[in-house]
Amino acid sequence: MTGVRTLFPYEPRPDQLELLDAFAISQEKKVPFVLEGPTGVGKTVCALSSTISLALAMDKRVLYLTRTNSQQTQVMREARAIKEFGGTEKKVTACGIQGRQRSCPLIKVDTDLQGGTPEELSKVCGRKKRLALENKPGGCPYYKGFRDMDRGEVFRWMSEKVPTPEAVAERLIPMGVCPYEASKEFMSEALVVSAPYVYFFNIGVRRAILESMRCSIPDLIVVVDEAHNLPEYARDLMSPKMGLFTVERAIAEVKKKGDPEVAPGIKASELCEAIGSAISGIAEEYCQEQDDALLPAVEFSVRLLSYLGTTSNKLETAVRGLLAMGEQMRQERLNRGKLPRSFAHSLALFMEEWNAVSEENYVHLALSSPVSIEAYCLDPTRATGELSNAAWSLHMSGTLRPLEEYRDSLGLEGGMLHISPSPFPPENRVVLCAEDVTTRYEEWRGNEENRQRMERYLEALGTTGKNTLVFFPSFALLNECLETGAFQDVHGPMLFVEDRKKEQRALMEDLARFRKEGGVFLSVMGGRLSEGIDLPGDVLEVVAIAGMPYPKPSARQQTLIRHYDRMFDRGWEYAVNAPMERKTLQAIGRLIRTENDRGVVIFLDHRGRRLANLFHTWEEFTGSDALISRVSSFFGEKD
Ligand code: SF4
Repeated sequence: MTGVRTLFPYEPRPDQLELLDAFAISQEKKVPFVLEGPTGVGKTVCALSSTISLALAMDKRVLYLTRTNSQQTQVMREARAIKEFGGTEKKVTACGIQGRQRSCPLIKVDTDLQGGTPEELSKVCGRKKRLALENKPGGCPYYKGFRDMDRGEVFRWMSEKVPTPEAVAERLIPMGVCPYEASKEFMSEALVVSAPYVYFFNIGVRRAILESMRCSIPDLIVVVDEAHNLPEYARDLMSPKMGLFTVERAIAEVKKKGDPEVAPGIKASELCEAIGSAISGIAEEYCQEQDDALLPAVEFSVRLLSYLGTTSNKLETAVRGLLAMGEQMRQERLNRGKLPRSFAHSLALFMEEWNAVSEENYVHLALSSPVSIEAYCLDPTRATGELSNAAWSLHMSGTLRPLEEYRDSLGLEGGMLHISPSPFPPENRVVLCAEDVTTRYEEWRGNEENRQRMERYLEALGTTGKNTLVFFPSFALLNECLETGAFQDVHGPMLFVEDRKKEQRALMEDLARFRKEGGVFLSVMGGRLSEGIDLPGDVLEVVAIAGMPYPKPSARQQTLIRHYDRMFDRGWEYAVNAPMERKTLQAIGRLIRTENDRGVVIFLDHRGRRLANLFHTWEEFTGSDALISRVSSFFGEKD
């Protein structure tokens, strides 16, 4: 057996040794491990050296699931370090896979194909491969290149260098070889495979990756990185929804095809229109004063049957007919080299999913913006349940508290919970909290003095001269505060605002300017700047939390509270406090990224107090002068 310590490629710190020992205990007990490890702990290298050691000992494979490309790059870098560390060179092989959207040289440059789902792109790719083999026009030249490539040379290089998916593409595309197919084939022998979440949690994609890896779930050791998003991601994945956008396109689509009958006496467009009318009627009636509302399970079907004046059996036949028609349209589009997408098909599929959901794990919701209905899945284990069949699973994130909620939500029975301390000097960060301000709904709406105090605090943030990220709980509150003119003294390019509609590229350009020129950046918790970005050194000096990000009261939220109450008797704690805590800590996590970073966290909401015990220091203050003076004294001490 290759011991984990002989695989660890660096001089381990005592906290890392402790973590490796904790992993070993959990592996011996055969229970999942849930880890909160702040930046700097070395989670990736600890996880990889431990799981590789276990895989070598038990003849298993490691599937390392990531959310972002930068995490995947980090996984490949650490796997390379472990491989080069000696003793196990031949055995440690690793492969990173990304969807065709990112790795296929043809799809990457075709804007029509870019938005395809994994299933759609797999069909496009399958056709291009077939045409290539038949030497017909439209065939993929890179597939031919892949078939003819010198496997010995390419796989030797992949085995020795442990390249990232980007490096594989950089080398193989100029050689005329498909990087996706090459990685897929190499996966069959790789000890470690790193892949996006969808490769495990989407049933269809999981089947494909297991086939490529030539193994089954019990052969896998699964690492889930950035796990804090998993419960919500899994719920969303398992929640079928339908809005008027798809319905309208489906109607146009079937009319273009001559609008045939999908069941005796029911034309395709009549079925689609009835679905649209049922959805808008429901939203109008149920969501008069709120964004969402609980819907009796049978309400949608009852309306649909009444609009169509038909029976359930005939409706089922009509849905099956629409599905077949949609499938045919998909095939026709595919034959023309287009994305095999049919809105009629999506609509029929939704109808089947809506009718199949079980009462026990789902609630039905009507939504007003956009007008739609959703079968909301309360139980994330419907997507994540297979993790319990893996040889071992490790779930980790920089901010995963409360760990009990994560373990219980995912049904990780007997799971060991572990919080690693931050390795950075605690005195590098000071945490302040304004005693006299809040964005709590009742006070924000009804207390003008409270709002004015917030305005003054925000104004003060703009005058400290420190590079500052201000996180609001929502875009609505961000815009409201912006309109007060609180930031009018922060001029021109010094003020940056995350706009919900801003394209990713434009936002990244703003971020690049903020990195270079500094200033104040207004953003929202749970938004695009609150996770996965690094702003080291004095690029970021202050993070302000302008209101606690409690979930908006809604029917969805209420049912989640009831669900957690029923399951664990901890409804409020798990459905309200846990997401608030994680979102806040994620945002604050942007501040200290290296041991030399120093900075100030400022809560502009006295409800931040409930998190006080999570920090080494906690100081409360009143008034904008106190804020400015404490920020400058913190930086003045050192300067
Ligand atoms: Fe793209 Fe590769 Fe498929 Fe060709 S074989 S279409 S390059 S993914």
